[in-house]
Amino acid sequence: MPNYWLSEYSSPDDEEMPDEEMPEEEPEDEEDPDDPEEKLNDRQKMMYEQYEQCVEMHGKFDQTSGGNGAHYAPASKNPFIKEGLVCSNCVYFMGGQGCEIVAGKIEANAICKLWIIPEELLGNKK
Ligand code: SF4
Repeated sequence: MPNYWLSEYSSPDDEEMPDEEMPEEEPEDEEDPDDPEEKLNDRQKMMYEQYEQCVEMHGKFDQTSGGNGAHYAPASKNPFIKEGLVCSNCVYFMGGQGCEIVAGKIEANAICKLWIIPEELLGNKK
């Protein structure tokens, strides 16, 4: 009579041991030339990351000119529109009326002190 237990038994040496599973390397992010962040200079890239970290730790800036404020100026009070200093050119603008780092409704032609706008969008726009 076959010994059921022995016949079912196989030592680990009998089996092919799977290769140690290594996590697959994440592909490096490819640069997207249309990504506004790629158009920033080195100083702006650093500021971009610093403001994002600040917001992660402390929440969004408010719109006031206080210590937690972005000193937001609505479109009707923005004297720099012709120079391209508008929220719609800023890397934080999310479209609609949203900003990644400033709370509340944001107008496309407004501006605040935290703007980060690629150089190619700055200048006198006529
Ligand atoms: S300028 Fe940029 S950071 Fe400031 S409110 Fe407009 S979109 Fe947000």
